[in-house]
Amino acid sequence: MKDVERSSPENRGEAEADKLARYAPGAFALILFGPPGSGKGTQAKLLVSDLGFAHISTGDILREHIAAEDAIGRQVMAMMKNGQLVPDELVNQMVEERIGRDDCMNGFILDGFPRTLGQAENLGWLLAARGIGHLVVHLAVDYNKLVGRLTARRQCPQCGTLYNLLSRPPVIPGRCDIEGALLEVRTDDQEMVIRKRLEAYDAQTRPLIEYFRADGSLHEVEASDAPPEVIVRQVRQLIEEFRGQ
Ligand SMILES: [Zn+2]
Repeated sequence: MKDVERSSPENRGEAEADKLARYAPGAFALILFGPPGSGKGTQAKLLVSDLGFAHISTGDILREHIAAEDAIGRQVMAMMKNGQLVPDELVNQMVEERIGRDDCMNGFILDGFPRTLGQAENLGWLLAARGIGHLVVHLAVDYNKLVGRLTARRQCPQCGTLYNLLSRPPVIPGRCDIEGALLEVRTDDQEMVIRKRLEAYDAQTRPLIEYFRADGSLHEVEASDAPPEVIVRQVRQLIEEFRGQ
């Protein structure tokens, strides 16, 4: 992409070297990896506070740049208006900037990144340049169970409360517990939409499993049925083992 602004090598003198050296000893990147709806965001939220890590989601960074209307935000807005996907190069640039911020110096959790092989390779370089290790946790889920769980979600159109007919049903079927509004299925949770997202994941992101298996960083956690508190215990165990290496 020609029109993507890059930081030139001349800009990166000693200041950059200083930056790279600021990471705490033992800082690492925890990459939470899995299909949409596998609970990556929930796991990240459960883990950030006790690890003292930053929670990095590329969706959040995109929204931040758009809200700030900075150079990256304006490029992203223009692409989205034209129905284009945000290219790897721009996402990589945003992640590089994000992982250099102060809250990342103890380590960080990447939630939903990398998404493509190109992003994974770039991340590998960024981490190597900073002397940071990485642990990949793949939240493995059975697609049929996943679709069943997601299509069971209902949302209150008035207060936004989320329900799940399987795990968190409303007291009165079909009605919000707060003010009694009729619950709705969100567009994102319709079966066709979910199947499409899973297809895109299979085509684009699933190949990363082999990539991370080859570099020895991949760990699998079965996440189809267990509640988040049980899954997070297994992830914490993997972190302990990783730190003990
Ligand atoms: Zn409500």
